[in-house]
Amino acid sequence: MQVQSCQPPPPEESTQSIFARVYRQIARSSTVPVVELLVKPYVNTMGKLHLKSGVLEVRISDILAGAPTTVREALAWILLSKLFRRVPPSHWVLHYRQFMSRRDVRRTHQAVRVSRGRKYISGPQGATYNLDEIFDQLRDRYFPPLIPKPALGWSRRPSRTLLGHFDNAHNAIILSSLLDRPQVPRLVVEYVLFHEMLHLKHPVEHHGSRRRVHTSAFRADEKLFDGIAEAKELLKRL
Ligand SMILES: [Zn+2]
Repeated sequence: MQVQSCQPPPPEESTQSIFARVYRQIARSSTVPVVELLVKPYVNTMGKLHLKSGVLEVRISDILAGAPTTVREALAWILLSKLFRRVPPSHWVLHYRQFMSRRDVRRTHQAVRVSRGRKYISGPQGATYNLDEIFDQLRDRYFPPLIPKPALGWSRRPSRTLLGHFDNAHNAIILSSLLDRPQVPRLVVEYVLFHEMLHLKHPVEHHGSRRRVHTSAFRADEKLFDGIAEAKELLKRL
């Protein structure tokens, strides 16, 4: 078995060659288009294909352009299956997801999102409520004194469906400006901000390709909020 371990690793196959090979298999055709590769600074798109007059244009993100051969092959199966309106093989989908959920890949992806994203973050002072002040009060009451303060702001549009979210990439808590009105009780704003602050304390857990946002520890902590039943009731009536 010595012999095997002494062999040099096979050279990485080019992305063009991978796409041509997978194309041949999915199309069951010996005529394969010329593959042109374009590497784009995509953030939220895995890639795009464009087939026209014998040329298959493959646009993929720079994050994936340097990925291992098997990951680029998984991407080829997913994108080409879509092109041929087929269901991509599940093991390739799983392989792709596992790669994307790897800790180092997530970190690169997040850093890229921060540097590329032009995110609008208003200040904490709204028309009715000041999030800075409410954050401090909640911290003093429920959190360790040194919990770091992220950027705080109100959403540009008053969303009814997303009342608050913690944006990990920009380290910001954004509350819907729908809540920044005198007819909204302060307890509601406090509760929504408290929930988002718990996301600082309980990072998202990754189990393989699955994400767990509200863990049982998160839920247990949330119950400690004074007046949670009333806050939830008021939220329903908004
Ligand atoms: Zn949440």
